[in-house]
Amino acid sequence: MNGNIWVVAEQWKGQISEITYEVMALGRELADGLGARLEAVLLGHNARSLAAGLGKADLVLYADHESLAEPNIEALMSALVQLMRERKPRAVLVPLTNVSMGLSTLVAAELELPVVNFCKDAKVVDGAVQATCVLYGGKIEATVATAGDSAILAVWPGARQADQGRSGASPAVEEVALELPAGLCIKLKRYLEPEMGEVDITQQQVLVAVGRGIQSKDNLEMAEELAEALGGAVCGSRPVIDQGWLPLSRQVGKSGMQVKPRLYLALGISGAPEHLEGMRGSDLIVAVNTDPAAPIFNEAHYGVVADALDLMPALAEKVKAAKG
Ligand SMILES: Cc1cc2nc3c(=O)[nH]c(=O)nc-3n(C[C@H](O)[C@H](O)[C@H](O)COP(=O)(O)OP(=O)(O)OC[C@H]3O[C@@H](n4cnc5c(N)ncnc54)[C@H](O)[C@@H]3O)c2cc1C
Repeated sequence: MNGNIWVVAEQWKGQISEITYEVMALGRELADGLGARLEAVLLGHNARSLAAGLGKADLVLYADHESLAEPNIEALMSALVQLMRERKPRAVLVPLTNVSMGLSTLVAAELELPVVNFCKDAKVVDGAVQATCVLYGGKIEATVATAGDSAILAVWPGARQADQGRSGASPAVEEVALELPAGLCIKLKRYLEPEMGEVDITQQQVLVAVGRGIQSKDNLEMAEELAEALGGAVCGSRPVIDQGWLPLSRQVGKSGMQVKPRLYLALGISGAPEHLEGMRGSDLIVAVNTDPAAPIFNEAHYGVVADALDLMPALAEKVKAAKG
């Protein structure tokens, strides 16, 4: 075991993903706590220049292979397994996103290593890595220690601020040779981009987000009025989209959009992990829910236990009056 902490540097469309920096910040803390080195693992094709952005690491291990040109989970798994067999890191932190999802569990199965999925946090306790992860769709949080010399942590978005994981420093880069199996089973043919629709919710500063709690499509009008008064747009949780009340381009969450507005007003949304994944980076989260135990209140900066159907028109009036 070389005892180092690794962060898998996720890429998307030729750029390092934002979550990579979040995970780098966490990895830095763990490496410092253990007196180990932080190494970023950059797997790609003609992507060496991206290493320059990974200055938080002591070293970037860069592996180039044409099979790694796209986020092909099978190729990534083979590459990571090979590198881990050779170098035996102490802990490998993998971003938990649509792009990297599955990588942690596949690698763990291949190498028979423990994996902690859905990690919200991790720290060093008595010389060992201890992780906090969520279970049962966010209903239970568990603090876990892994057995053995090496482990994989799949880290959820939001574990740290991305800015904490950036650095202007130039990291050392070591190019490593890979031998990937020929004839990988999975081949990406093309990307199907979701249609952005008339409103791009990823670019809005104010979002009025509605969930199943608004109860019917007719009540959307109140949300539209409130959004207009606030100078923002309406988006929704998955049930709202599944029922056809809003188009897919307005869905926030794991299978929708990632949004980071200045204000995210969540109305009648319970706060399922799949929804939180898309909005927890918002600057200010205000949640309105009739259930005081709704998990969304654990994420919100401000919480209001109230009926959203009463609150929406009242708030719209107040905002309009305040604007004059
Ligand atoms: C693979 C996968 C991907 C998924 N992707 C996404 C995704 O991208 N985005 C997403 O959102 N979900 C996603 N989901 C679904 C997710 O698990 C939840 O089911 C969903 O987020 C719940 O939506 P909700 O909060 O609107 O509904 P519910 O969980 O039903 O919550 C409704 C809330 O409204 C409250 N309420 C009821 N009436 C009122 C009222 N009058 N005023 C105020 N509050 C009220 C209730 O107390 C409750 O908390 C995904 C699930 C899976 C398995």
